[in-house]
Amino acid sequence: MNLKNLLREIEDFPEEGILFKDITPILKDEDGFNEVIERFLDEFAELEFDYIAAIEARGFLLGPVLSREFACGFIPIRKSGKLPADKVSVTYELEYGESELEMHTDSLEAGDKVLLIDDLLATGGTSLAAIELIEKLEAEVIAAGYLIELTDLPGRSNLQDYNIFSIMKE
Ligand code: IMP
Repeated sequence: MNLKNLLREIEDFPEEGILFKDITPILKDEDGFNEVIERFLDEFAELEFDYIAAIEARGFLLGPVLSREFACGFIPIRKSGKLPADKVSVTYELEYGESELEMHTDSLEAGDKVLLIDDLLATGGTSLAAIELIEKLEAEVIAAGYLIELTDLPGRSNLQDYNIFSIMKE
């Protein structure tokens, strides 16, 4: 199964000059989606963790499926204003402007071990914000997994203190 054949590139989305990696054809393909889940299962089989946390929105397409496979709970990391109960927030820089991620304060306890999942690693800014949130709750990110890693960008070096895995390098 060559997942690269199923990855679609869209020019000028969401803004001019951006070449967007669209994973929806992978998800649509039964064998492709299955391969993605199996690759994560193989990679993290020996890892011990309490929860999977994933980042809104495309991380939510992968994280809960993996939670089910690993028989652990799932924790959503959401854009600001979406979570209803008490929460912690982290603001981070985007290429243009800034954004904010949030988690429920009671979603993790001190010492919990977390596997972080997102669809794509680019600069690593989003993941670092998610990690900061998890660490604010005194929990630990033991690994982060991505379907795609953009190797021209410094995501991996910005996350050098963490155990990073990606299925596809683009
Ligand atoms: P970073 O913060 O620069 O690492 O960007 C990664 C975040 O932006 C992830 O949450 C991705 O969902 C999103 N992202 C950036 N570029 C793309 C893309 O080409 N396809 C899908 N998601 C992307």
